Amino acid sequence: MQILVTGAAGYIGSHACQRLLADGHHVVGLDNLHRGHITPMNLLAQQHPDRFTFIQSDLGDTPTVLAALNEHRIDTVLHFGALAYVGESVEDPLWYYRNNIASAIGLLDACDAAHDAKGITRFIFSSSCATYGDLPDDRIPVAEDAPQNPTSPYGYTKLHFEHILRDYATKRQRENNPIALTMLRYFNVAGSDRSGLLGEDHTPETHLIPVALNTALGKRESMSIFGTDYPTPDGTNIRDYVHVEDLIDAHVRAMNTIEIGQVEAFNVGIGKGYSVREILDSVKRVSGVDFPVLEGDRRAGDAIALYNDPTKIKSALGWDAQVTDIDEVVASAWAWFKANPNGYDD
Ligand code: UDP
Repeated sequence: MQILVTGAAGYIGSHACQRLLADGHHVVGLDNLHRGHITPMNLLAQQHPDRFTFIQSDLGDTPTVLAALNEHRIDTVLHFGALAYVGESVEDPLWYYRNNIASAIGLLDACDAAHDAKGITRFIFSSSCATYGDLPDDRIPVAEDAPQNPTSPYGYTKLHFEHILRDYATKRQRENNPIALTMLRYFNVAGSDRSGLLGEDHTPETHLIPVALNTALGKRESMSIFGTDYPTPDGTNIRDYVHVEDLIDAHVRAMNTIEIGQVEAFNVGIGKGYSVREILDSVKRVSGVDFPVLEGDRRAGDAIALYNDPTKIKSALGWDAQVTDIDEVVASAWAWFKANPNGYDD
């Protein structure tokens, strides 16, 4: 297949490019390099000079994206490119809506106009379990039919774009030119490529596991738990941490399984929740470093507990997490952090 990956230079997008290239596809990676890194793009281009093209562009730059879709005869778009911090979205919601919705509509305009207005064939959207917000206890673990009431602007950007995509798919259906649309609602993505080539390098870094690994490396003096008074067994938030390679495998399965005319949403998470304290214990165990952890205030926008009910994705896509031991997830991330203490350093 000929595949466009938006957000290709980011943590998850770069892992997606790597897997798609390993599977023999032609891949065009698009990224404005606002938060992505050129290094993984160069590494992948060196490995696959004939099948990988990187384009530096905003995904909302419709003419540039349209030219890329046509020139490379793209049939499938994997849309990862987005701002993705809950806390930051609370601080600056308009920035989040402009990037994650307005720019994404620019991408969709290009997808619609491509191939002499026939449009692309398959679209897979990185949505989020943040679209669910705080659910009643009887809705945890979370299935796809749970009510979606986000607790943050970030969550709303993902939910709104799901609606926009559904409306777009309906238009394509009405025009007898249907599209295959999959929305994957990620739980917390963690770990890195076990070949050691790619890793996770964000600026700023706010995600729990990388922050803890940076503290274990001594790059931070300490870190904080954001809230120890939640109504959970140890008082800290509970999340479902899915290994990035398993997450990408869900995309590959959706690409191969969801048929033209189908519109589907799947949760992607292992089906087990870990508290913040359990994650920190794992990081200390794996790294062998007992770093200082402070008990801080709650962070605005955080849901109390979220973990997946993987029944639907198991039965429809045959997907199941291969990495379910949290120490294994953390170990894959720790290996890259130790080998690259300054990240990609680009
Ligand atoms: N968290 C924390 N300290 C940190 C970073 C995160 O206690 O320095 C908590 C955060 O409040 C949440 C969990 O770790 O409960 C996962 O947060 P992360 O930002 O990694 O992902 P999110 O769930 O927001 O997508």
